[in-house]
Amino acid sequence: MGKPSATSRTAAQNKPHQQTGSPGLVIAHYGQVSLVETADGSLIRCQSRKNLPRTVCGDRILYESSTPRDGVIKQILDRSSILVRPDRNGRIKPVAANIDQVIIVLASKPSFQINMLDRYLVAAELINTSPVIVVNKQDLLDHESRNRLDHRLEIYKKLGYPLLFTSTLTTDGLKDLHLQLRQHTSVLVGQSGVGKSSLVQALLPELEIRTGRLSNVTGLGRHTTTTTTLYHLPDSGDLIDSPGVREFNLWPVEPREIAYGFVEFRPYLGSCRFHNCLHNGEPGCQITEAVRTKQVSANRLQNYRELLTLQAS
Ligand code: GDP
Repeated sequence: MGKPSATSRTAAQNKPHQQTGSPGLVIAHYGQVSLVETADGSLIRCQSRKNLPRTVCGDRILYESSTPRDGVIKQILDRSSILVRPDRNGRIKPVAANIDQVIIVLASKPSFQINMLDRYLVAAELINTSPVIVVNKQDLLDHESRNRLDHRLEIYKKLGYPLLFTSTLTTDGLKDLHLQLRQHTSVLVGQSGVGKSSLVQALLPELEIRTGRLSNVTGLGRHTTTTTTLYHLPDSGDLIDSPGVREFNLWPVEPREIAYGFVEFRPYLGSCRFHNCLHNGEPGCQITEAVRTKQVSANRLQNYRELLTLQAS
């Protein structure tokens, strides 16, 4: 069964006539002003052409400069993905574009719920990105707790999700994380206190210098702590750090989209007895059958059902 159209995939909203202009990359956003990195690596402030949709961090655009430090965005190029989040009023807001990896950070402390991990995985799948699971603070794990955690996360390894253990204290695993981030545009997500800021600092040794450089260009002070910002990693790859989406929830999605977000369900989707089967106890459900024959984990089906209930409430 093909991928259902997710509410989050509003990508190619900007398809009109071909425009001309110089290519640039939106690396941050301050109100109406986009901070654009030009092809030669310099930074300029850009307003958007009238009637253009709002740009987001990670957008590839065409611009025309009016002064060496200012320009106008003429066109937003098609997005391969768009990460969204519900704002306080439940409206869906785009946050970052063209991401291809979501780094889901967990830690032994604060402990995590497996269904929260599943929620992040579903979100990452639905926006067409590859999730990576990072367990930070591995220095706090003794042999026994590491074994327990390995056991809890075994199913995700079997599903093919990359799983890394890191420590920003001992630097264990950071090399592997660097390798995982190479050639990708990634965003870090995870609950508060798991060590995301510490990881960003470990991954971006020149963060302070860079933050200063951005605030010089914008003239707006050190806003990057509160603004979604794209950073180039030292050995290739980009990291978008978005304080607003670090603990993002799943936006409103249809039940069939939730099911699609559970990767191992996909081979069975569309083959249940009822075409609108919610895999929630209906007779002839092929996913229930797959759990019976141990092709699908009973815990994952349970988490899917919990997510279904949560999204319906
Ligand atoms: P965030 O809320 O996810 O951004 O988490 P922070 O980066 O602010 O880290 C929360 C706390 O965990 C801080 O006290 C950090 O010093 C600590 N911390 C971060 N990484 C590690 C780690 O690898 N090991 C240990 N033991 N503590 C860490």
